[in-house]
Amino acid sequence: MNAEFDFLYKQLCSFIPSSRLFLNANLSKYTSFKIGGNANIMVMPSDIRELNIICILCKKIGIRFYVLGRGTNVLVLDSGINGVVIKTDKLQTVKISGTYITAEAGASIQEIVNIALDNNFSGLEWACGIPGSVGGAVYMNAGAYGGQMSDIVKSVKVYDNGKATIISNQNAQFDYRHSIFEEKKYQHCVILSTILKLKKDEQKNIQNRITEFTLKRKQTQNVGYPNAGSAFKKPKEGYAAKFIEDAGLKGITFGGAAVSNVHSGFIVNLGNATCSDVTNLMDYISSTVYKKFNVVLIPEIKIFGG
Ligand SMILES: Cc1cc2nc3c(=O)[nH]c(=O)nc-3n(C[C@H](O)[C@H](O)[C@H](O)COP(=O)(O)OP(=O)(O)OC[C@H]3O[C@@H](n4cnc5c(N)ncnc54)[C@H](O)[C@@H]3O)c2cc1C
Repeated sequence: MNAEFDFLYKQLCSFIPSSRLFLNANLSKYTSFKIGGNANIMVMPSDIRELNIICILCKKIGIRFYVLGRGTNVLVLDSGINGVVIKTDKLQTVKISGTYITAEAGASIQEIVNIALDNNFSGLEWACGIPGSVGGAVYMNAGAYGGQMSDIVKSVKVYDNGKATIISNQNAQFDYRHSIFEEKKYQHCVILSTILKLKKDEQKNIQNRITEFTLKRKQTQNVGYPNAGSAFKKPKEGYAAKFIEDAGLKGITFGGAAVSNVHSGFIVNLGNATCSDVTNLMDYISSTVYKKFNVVLIPEIKIFGG
């Protein structure tokens, strides 16, 4: 380990317990794809005070940090991450006020769906089965079955250079699987929490919709191998999965990576896939679909590291 990381690790050890601080963390263990190398340091702050000190130290020492939620939409480079991974798992407080839910970034989307159901709140049914965190869902503007985060986010609290700022829904510039938080000026920011605005409904109606979407997900997404959900965004011309299938690419493999035989929009890790296998396969898919249909496929998965 080089001197900067050594120094940072020693500083972190003074206020973060070893159960939340990891040296040379193997990120394949922390991503749904089960692919990727190590991060020099991975740390899980349990409150904003700790997060603030971690970010200040990284800035002072000149080390880049990356924010990781549940790791269900990322592909980590084989060479890993030269930097610190701040994992949000321990920021999980959820509060309810009227029909508003305030959820910290590390809370799981599934937990929020369950809380909404228990409280007879509608608006999040579409999200059942999405395996990510609240922070990741806001960042990605996650969505399914006609719903998306931007429909229900009232505001987002963001840590930016020592202070917390509130960004309104409008200023978050949500678009299809996009938010302002993807942009370069937010690279050093951490989504802390969000306020979701939901509506009252009868519990049986909410439950019915959850059951319907859960069934649909089981029928279409039971791919049986590690993956990161849809590899490509939906192009305006139709569904990425349909173009991939029509191009004859269902089931093709590159090393240990394959286009799923169940859902052509998913790339799966057959067991020993590397990041390069996945990126090479994605490049091949995009160029083939473009040549055949003149349709541009844009990756939805975020490459992490470098
Ligand atoms: C089986 C499966 C099904 C899926 N189905 C869907 C679906 O139906 N719809 C859908 O939209 N997605 C789906 N996904 C993708 C993924 O679950 C969502 O995008 C989810 O919202 C990502 O959350 P995460 O916590 O895992 O984010 P991560 O994968 O950890 O991170 C994703 C991006 O968000 C950033 N990020 C995460 N947390 C923060 C934070 N607190 N502050 C700043 N940046 C942050 C990361 O830096 C990264 O760039 C699916 C994935 C799988 C594996």
